[in-house]
Amino acid sequence: MNSKLPEEGIRNCPGCNRELSDKATECLMCGHKFEAANPDRERAKAHKALKRKNRYHSMAYLAMVLVCAGALFIYFGRKGSNETFLLFGYGSLGLGAASYLWARAMMFVHKKKK
Ligand SMILES: [Zn+2]
Repeated sequence: MNSKLPEEGIRNCPGCNRELSDKATECLMCGHKFEAANPDRERAKAHKALKRKNRYHSMAYLAMVLVCAGALFIYFGRKGSNETFLLFGYGSLGLGAASYLWARAMMFVHKKKK
């Protein structure tokens, strides 16, 4: 029989192609880490992705607040013919709209990647 058949419990390192025990969590030769053999790492990764998603959600929320504040400033700026209010209003409205679109786009990109 051919002794070169892959043995159970042995796998090749994707980093340096050396044979390793499948219980090894990282290659001692090149330092390659096996993600699947490390549930904590997987969980940390998922947690990070969730945190990132939450960040974009709060960013979109903040952008909406900015848009509302901008609209309010424009309203009062028009009412009182206050140039500063108007300028500030248009500025925050534009910034809010831009960041809202950006946050939505980032959410979309990250959703698509998964
Ligand atoms: Zn290796």
